[in-house]
Amino acid sequence: MMPKMNTAKILLSLLHLLAATPVLAGDFNTCLGDLRREATGKGITTQTFDAAMRGIEPDQSVLEAMDNQPEFKTPIWDYLAALVDEQRIADGHAKLAEWAAVLADAERKFGVDRHTIIAVWGVESDYGKTMGRRPLVRSLATVSCFGGRQRFFRGELLATLRILQSGDMPPEALAGSWAGAFGHTQFMPSTFQRLAVDFDGDGRRDIVNSVPDALGSTANYLKQAGWITAQPWGYEVRLPANYDGPAGRRTRRALTEWNRLGIRQIDGSALTGNGPAALLLPAGARGPAFIVFRNFDAIYSYNAAESYALAIAHLSDRLRGAGPFRSAWPTDDPGLSRAERRELQELLIARGYDIGTADGIIGARTRAAIESFQTSAGLAADGRAGGRVLKALRQTSPQQ
Ligand code: CA
Repeated sequence: MMPKMNTAKILLSLLHLLAATPVLAGDFNTCLGDLRREATGKGITTQTFDAAMRGIEPDQSVLEAMDNQPEFKTPIWDYLAALVDEQRIADGHAKLAEWAAVLADAERKFGVDRHTIIAVWGVESDYGKTMGRRPLVRSLATVSCFGGRQRFFRGELLATLRILQSGDMPPEALAGSWAGAFGHTQFMPSTFQRLAVDFDGDGRRDIVNSVPDALGSTANYLKQAGWITAQPWGYEVRLPANYDGPAGRRTRRALTEWNRLGIRQIDGSALTGNGPAALLLPAGARGPAFIVFRNFDAIYSYNAAESYALAIAHLSDRLRGAGPFRSAWPTDDPGLSRAERRELQELLIARGYDIGTADGIIGARTRAAIESFQTSAGLAADGRAGGRVLKALRQTSPQQ
């Protein structure tokens, strides 16, 4: 039987077809000429530009990554389950010990605590394990010449050329995500230009090859984003029954106002803290709720996603010894840690599904295998890698 395609899937296939249309080499060379004029008019030498662009071709896969709309909207509990799992907490403790002296220096110099710095590192690049491998100049030249955000990416390309010209980082180290985020801390090139610091004292700023530079740069970023020393990002709270009052990161109120509305700390005591605060309800009033202060906004500014900011904030708490959130997410199909994602894949492989290796990354083949298993087990076939299907896989033997 042919799988049914809904409208969204058909549109997605069309998008992929469009994205697969090859970009034109002639257009690219014309564009490089324009970029060369623009860059050399803004202080980049012709030597820097020509050395960086020598033999360069547009990278089709970068355009595909830019156009790729995620087929499944990822619920926040999935992000949290994978970004703040036992493995990342244990790895974080090891990094706190390994870099204790550098972190103490960063606390003194920038006023940002070590747990937050390490949590940013853990969420942004899994402590340097996933920094991205795409050559920055090629990716950024591609999206500077094709696609819908050329003006923005030309600024990032120019910043990358300035990094090369400064000698801060060698060309081969400048690799990262398709969009140009790079290094342990996943800075964009323009962010690097503004905020990276030389924290190991070798005279160069290098957030790929120097962990001290990366940690110091993260602390400097947060300080410049308005971090207030020795203040919490926020904490989990309890809502009164049927709460339907104000909420959202931008809606700031005095704590007295939140207290008046019946919001309480998770243990039932009155709210405490300094300054205006916002009430964050990432999954609505039926899920975990948080009172957040200025420092949450500093973390949020790092990549402008509440799910990531909450992951960093929560990981920092876990590294301080706190437990999981007390309120459950409003779902009967909870998210999986990375170890559980690998277990899920191993159980599918044991049933003969060809999904490659169990790497914990849930791609199209894993989702298709889940759908097939769900159908054979009489479950709703949604293809979701969650707690429900993992439980079903654990309970049925491969021979059935
Ligand atoms: Ca350095």
